Amino acid sequence: MVKKVAVLTSGGDAPGMNAAVRAVVRTGLAHGLEMYAVYDGYKGLYEGKIERMYRKSVAEKLNRGGTFIGTARLPEFVHPEIRQVCVENLQEYGIDALVTIGGDGTYRGAYELEKMGVFTVGIPGTIDNDVAGTDYTIGFDTALTTIVEAIDKLRDTSSSHRRCSIVEVMGRHCGALAIWAGIAVGAEVVICEETGYDEAKVIQTIQDAARVKKHAIVIVSENFIDIKHLEKVLNDFTPFEARTTILGYVQRGGCPSPRDRVLASMMGAKAVECLVNNISGVCMCSVNEKIVAIPFEEALKMKKNQVEEKYKVFEELW
Ligand code: ADP
Repeated sequence: MVKKVAVLTSGGDAPGMNAAVRAVVRTGLAHGLEMYAVYDGYKGLYEGKIERMYRKSVAEKLNRGGTFIGTARLPEFVHPEIRQVCVENLQEYGIDALVTIGGDGTYRGAYELEKMGVFTVGIPGTIDNDVAGTDYTIGFDTALTTIVEAIDKLRDTSSSHRRCSIVEVMGRHCGALAIWAGIAVGAEVVICEETGYDEAKVIQTIQDAARVKKHAIVIVSENFIDIKHLEKVLNDFTPFEARTTILGYVQRGGCPSPRDRVLASMMGAKAVECLVNNISGVCMCSVNEKIVAIPFEEALKMKKNQVEEKYKVFEELW
């Protein structure tokens, strides 16, 4: 049975990561395990930034945004010799298991460590909701709330000025944030990888909106289209004055929502229970409101979250 367990956060930070770290540490302590944190993800693991965790170490962290143990990216982690140093750093402390909180890149790294003899469990922490196997990732609900609140505010001012607000949201390869926000705020158009971009259709939709409304909202996933070009086109071909707002990193911040705190706590507890029961090489997935463990190998092959059904609803509502 595992005796010493470490936890790390990796990739982009997400609200609720702290709640997950806390749940891992407290559940581990409750099972009589020695608990550790690795600071700054795999980078910190490579640099040997490891510290013992006690109940006090995770006090007053549950409701805080970000990740108090830091996160970083280490592209070199794909090289076996770099990972070997990481394994040796864990061995130095006698740590036999590692809980990794992050996205699918983090899972890929964790799976490689598992193959090198470190018992690993993954927890999905990313605002994008783009991790295969789980209905929700930790941070998605909070980020969505932040986006919706921001767009509600923009709507107040844009309707006073007869504007079309173009809002760029995060989610480079997954339009979940864009589409969910689109439904929640009643946007006219959502543009992301899953919806594609049909310029003529967008112009037509906004022209139609101008006949019945004093404002319009277009939500665009980051880096998918040239947003400045879209702004110009909407200014030129619709009665609205188009203005772009890039929400940026505020989407990653803030106190985690109650839903994210609960999800993080359930997944953190289950991750340790898996290790205690000699189950590793798995990731925590929320499937129909239940937390289940799916092998990394299987999860990494699964299709990512499907947003087509949500987009269909969005289009029907318009
Ligand atoms: P996320 O976990 O949010 O998807 P990244 O894709 O940046 O974020 O991955 C986080 C870290 O995981 C990377 O910096 C790297 O250290 C590690 N990683 C990503 N892909 C792999 C891989 N194929 N093999 C080993 N490690 C990986």
